[in-house]
Amino acid sequence: MKALVLGAGIVGITTAYELNRDGHEVTVIDREAEPAAFTSYSNAGLFAPGHAYAWSSPAAPGILLRSLWRGDQALRLKLSADPRFWSWMWRFWGQCTPERAALNTTRKVRLCNYSLDVFHETLARTGVAYDGRKGGLLYLYSSEAALKAASARSRILSDNGCRIETLDRDGVAAKDPALAPVKDSFAGALYAPDDESGDCRLFARNMGDWLKGQGVTFRFGTAITGFETAGDRVAAVLTDKGRETADVIVLCLGVYSPQLARQIGHDLPIYPVKGYAMTAPVAGRNNPPTIGGVDEETLVAYAPYGDRIRVTATAEFSGYDRSHRPQDFATMLATMRRLFPDGADWDRASTWAGLRPMTPEGTPILGPSQMKNLWFNTGQGHMGWTMSHGAARITADLIAGKRPAIPLDGMAAVT
Ligand SMILES: Cc1cc2nc3c(=O)[nH]c(=O)nc-3n(C[C@H](O)[C@H](O)[C@H](O)COP(=O)(O)OP(=O)(O)OC[C@H]3O[C@@H](n4cnc5c(N)ncnc54)[C@H](O)[C@@H]3O)c2cc1C
Repeated sequence: MKALVLGAGIVGITTAYELNRDGHEVTVIDREAEPAAFTSYSNAGLFAPGHAYAWSSPAAPGILLRSLWRGDQALRLKLSADPRFWSWMWRFWGQCTPERAALNTTRKVRLCNYSLDVFHETLARTGVAYDGRKGGLLYLYSSEAALKAASARSRILSDNGCRIETLDRDGVAAKDPALAPVKDSFAGALYAPDDESGDCRLFARNMGDWLKGQGVTFRFGTAITGFETAGDRVAAVLTDKGRETADVIVLCLGVYSPQLARQIGHDLPIYPVKGYAMTAPVAGRNNPPTIGGVDEETLVAYAPYGDRIRVTATAEFSGYDRSHRPQDFATMLATMRRLFPDGADWDRASTWAGLRPMTPEGTPILGPSQMKNLWFNTGQGHMGWTMSHGAARITADLIAGKRPAIPLDGMAAVT
């Protein structure tokens, strides 16, 4: 069949891969000039089933309220007049019970684990390079009490197939010798041996090239403006360069998915949650991290990618604004200087901000729309690199009329 993929972020690129693999004639449309030029550009790159907790937890409302008067919070809320913000927040609030948090976490970790398997298959088949690093990820805790609580909390992940080990400070130093000089500043860590890291943008760009070699067409610099419908079908996708027709259309537009979906009668509960990233060169430095991780005290994530280190932090509700100021990077810089003082040239770090396409539940929206030939694969939130491979395979299976490998409870746009 002729398939159109709307969006060339990591979700669109992996969707194009799976549809091409199934023998479809695939075209990908994006207004940017290359794959992964928007949110997928500079994420932390953690492939992290071992960190798949739902953000909507019983603790989240308190953290959000405190952020109104304390600017140092990892979760930041700016009050907005946008009605979509309030309706999203209301639904998020409803997910903050212990039962909903457990259910959403279970669904997320199931998808993340499945995605890791699909990712490995894709790598074995294509050999796409992405500065990947296996060897697990470390989730670092400063206090004994926090480590103990995290260890108890991680039961939900191990019950759902993640291997999680609790390490003392010597165990942390053994897993990543770069942390040995500062090991006494930790109580210990949770270690997820099957978690990984890698450069999402590099993967998407190299996969884009690989797909071109397989006959996939890319229309970059092309803005999608709407749909022409005929009854219960999308007759054409309208762009600033003309009409595109297809048998099957998959919408993977990240934070802009709701705007386009509204035109075909869907109110997708996706809202942008801003995050900040910096990337610092390693050249000439003696002690960069050997594996990635998260400092759970400051919620700063980091991953080594060959000649550079990526660091990210903060979940900020400030609409579609992507601006950033030097002070937005102060906490992550201080955290990195504390953990890896000689790990990178921190003074030469480049900076960036991006928008996570978050649903209140933290699970993506997958499957058919009200239009018979349009499908959703969007809303992967803070875990789009981790979830994209599995979500793409599921989308291709649904289009082929096959039963997906995992249950999709809570992820459908049409019930
Ligand atoms: C700071 C930060 C750290 C993160 N860390 C991690 C991590 O460690 N691990 C992890 O798994 N995930 C992480 N994420 C999340 C991950 O980056 C996202 O979930 C993922 O990039 C979303 O991919 P996407 O393809 O849905 O969206 P995007 O990458 O935004 O792609 C959507 C595409 O649609 C295009 N588009 C939109 N509207 C139109 C239109 N009208 N016409 C044409 N094109 C259009 C855009 O140009 C864009 O290329 C992080 C995110 C941030 C911000």
